[in-house]
Amino acid sequence: MYDRENAPVIWVNFLVLGLTFLAAITIVPVYGFAVGYDGLEWSVFLVMLAITGFSITVGYHRLWSHRAFKAHPAVRLFLAVFGAAALQNSILNWSADHRNHHKYVDDKKRDPYAATRGFWFSHIGWIIRDYKSGSRNFDHIKDLARDPICQFQHRFYIPLAILVNAGLPLAIGYWHGKLWGTFLLAGILRIVLNHHFTFFINSLAHIWGTRPYSTKDTSRDNPLLALVTYGEGYHNFHHSFQYDYRNGIKWYAYDPGKWIIHTLERLGLATELRRAPRLAIQKARLETQRAQAISHLNSNPALEHLRHSLEDAYKNAVTALEAWNQSRIAWMDQKQILLREKSRSIKGELDQFKIRYRDLKRSCRTAMDHWQQTHASLLNAAVA
Ligand SMILES: [Zn+2]
Ligand SMILES: [Zn+2]
Repeated sequence: MYDRENAPVIWVNFLVLGLTFLAAITIVPVYGFAVGYDGLEWSVFLVMLAITGFSITVGYHRLWSHRAFKAHPAVRLFLAVFGAAALQNSILNWSADHRNHHKYVDDKKRDPYAATRGFWFSHIGWIIRDYKSGSRNFDHIKDLARDPICQFQHRFYIPLAILVNAGLPLAIGYWHGKLWGTFLLAGILRIVLNHHFTFFINSLAHIWGTRPYSTKDTSRDNPLLALVTYGEGYHNFHHSFQYDYRNGIKWYAYDPGKWIIHTLERLGLATELRRAPRLAIQKARLETQRAQAISHLNSNPALEHLRHSLEDAYKNAVTALEAWNQSRIAWMDQKQILLREKSRSIKGELDQFKIRYRDLKRSCRTAMDHWQQTHASLLNAAVA
């Protein structure tokens, strides 16, 4: 599907990407030295950089491609309009490619930006040359093709992109009395940075980082990369649990997209936020560590004596995790029932559940610690 050798250059894409990049590294700094940029021009640049970037990550990616939550039509319209300003094609085209990326990840023929074809291909090469041999197949995005906002954005993509991308910075610049300075920062520099920041998710986030949740594909978790990809650096988690509205699941993980979606929910503008079950996430981590340890064991007969203790520690950890998780669910269910019945003995009964939950949590920690130690000592033995 995407394997045409000598694929023809798509000249519009080549010129837009090439000329904006050239302008960003020549005209933008020269104008800065010669004329200078003021605080308002930098502010418009930063605000537009954030809005167009999050329209891609929160809108194109999490909302439309993965249906990770539902959003109010006003939010969808806003994300569709400013998503067009990111110059990354319409929602329908973008999501068609992205769903194929997840479905066929790393397959050189069917993943539109397969990282297995190298950094440059996955970063920008797939956009510059027509590897898709013409139009995209929309069979797998029928849900989006029915959405009037997606239809509208697809139909009027070019005028919308020109209006918001160039028209808005020019209009603000005209009002501010610094037409070209505002256009160079909030138009040209912003579009180039936004392009490459989001392109890094297809390239670097499949090359640089760790694979805690799955080693079945090239996707990587990288907190540093999250800083320049609008929080999408936890790409290994994302490929393992693509329907989850979060990328960085720890509360402190830099994932502004997750915080924006949370805020929209609090404002009543987003609903049905989807999360992967905690047990499934923990089991995925354990299974990945186990697979890594087993491959060391299989390639090194001298470590064979550790196999039994490794499997034991793994089984104990899984059992403890499941028991703790079940008790958490039972506690929550019981709480709902007791609250509904307004039972007098509510406190006493809830306390019983709480004690059991805490006991299981403690034994789970012990089993997990034991697993981590066993796993680490096997890896140390393999290195030594
Ligand atoms: Zn990916
Ligand atoms: Zn995705």
